[in-house]
Amino acid sequence: MSTTDLVALVCCDLGAIVRGRSVPAAQLDERLGEGVGWVPANHALTPLGPVAEPNPFGATGDLRLLPDAGTRVTVSAADGVPALELILCDIVETDGRPWECCPRDFLRDTLQELEAALDIRAVASFEQEFQLVLDSPPALPFSLEAQRRAEPFATAVMTALVEAGTQPERFFAEYAPHQFEIPVEVAGGLASADRSVVVREVVREIARREGMRASFAPLLDPAQAGNGVHIHLNLLDAAGRSMLYDGGRPACLSEFGGRFAAGILKHARALSALTAPSPTSAARLQPHRWSAGAVCLAERNREALLRIPPLVSLDGGDPARQLHLEYRGADAAANPYLALAAIIRAGLDGVRSELPAPPILDRDPAQLDDAEAERYGVGALPASLGDALQALAEDEVARGWMSPLLYDAYLSVKQAELAGTADLDLSELCTRYAAIY
Ligand code: GLU
Ligand code: MG
Repeated sequence: MSTTDLVALVCCDLGAIVRGRSVPAAQLDERLGEGVGWVPANHALTPLGPVAEPNPFGATGDLRLLPDAGTRVTVSAADGVPALELILCDIVETDGRPWECCPRDFLRDTLQELEAALDIRAVASFEQEFQLVLDSPPALPFSLEAQRRAEPFATAVMTALVEAGTQPERFFAEYAPHQFEIPVEVAGGLASADRSVVVREVVREIARREGMRASFAPLLDPAQAGNGVHIHLNLLDAAGRSMLYDGGRPACLSEFGGRFAAGILKHARALSALTAPSPTSAARLQPHRWSAGAVCLAERNREALLRIPPLVSLDGGDPARQLHLEYRGADAAANPYLALAAIIRAGLDGVRSELPAPPILDRDPAQLDDAEAERYGVGALPASLGDALQALAEDEVARGWMSPLLYDAYLSVKQAELAGTADLDLSELCTRYAAIY
């Protein structure tokens, strides 16, 4: 690369927007040590554009965006468009101490606690859906026709994702118009969240190069399926074995795994404020959208917030290596570091409180009457972002996962989003957010 090529030093903010500053490649070595300037109020910027008012930061303070050199990503130049070079950063104080509102540090802290307290390592993969924003009539869901019409984008994006080190596994057309999904391989906790940020930005980059826009917004059209971010999570002991697996128990979920799942379900409504945090998010999470229609644990059931995906014994597949939990209630408006950390913290609370394993629901949660819903422990997800924020405010344990400053900053961004979109109906909201994510 040439010495004047730009390297973007970026972070993912509270509204899951990637922001930062670019430096000429020739200056990069210097910047790796001291970072570039940043200010607390950057973290009060809303996805709508303006800064949230009021916010806890105001005009004071100085921070640094400190690159984590191991996260460097390159997507080669093509057709006159310079290479995309980016490095993910931690947000630190000017003396290098972590800033208390840095989302990446929030996840790192959570992972360290998991390791220090229980000698457990989290691994995860973010399964992300997106749509190309096109006027042309879509091909049929999951069809080869839809995949072929997506060329040369499809191959270009997979090539770029490989170059960026994200280990893509598949490319396929999903259910909604021009909707696609690219699952990627599991990575260590922090790397998995980094990877989810990189996947989105690389997909957007390649779409841009092809003259299109890729949107990860939770819901583009109220009449269609939405774009989910399903977080697949496993917890490994020191020997690398899954703590979640026990072949002798229902659905092969261990006692530990049951407690962990119970913690996630217990805090599910508060978690929504961090995992599905846009004004359109709750509309995606309705029954019969194959997203997550209810707060429950189920096996092979796409209406459940927490799902145990199938164990495949074909070709000598080892169930002990496959079993994991899939949290289906997240979307791309969520900061992936905050989302993953909050899910883990909720699970840890379940383990520490020795919650009993939730029942494994074997049917459509929407078909249950009240008594059955109670028996199966099935609850409703928040009906709106306002409800989710209320649930977070009322869940003292969940609120305590964040420092008071982080909580205030997060709330100010979300409240500004609610205020800034209060006049829009659902369809207008979808259009607004389609342009953001
Ligand atoms: N589009 C669905 C969602 O909004 C997910 C479909 C699937 O991959 O199971 O979460
Ligand atoms: Mg899907």
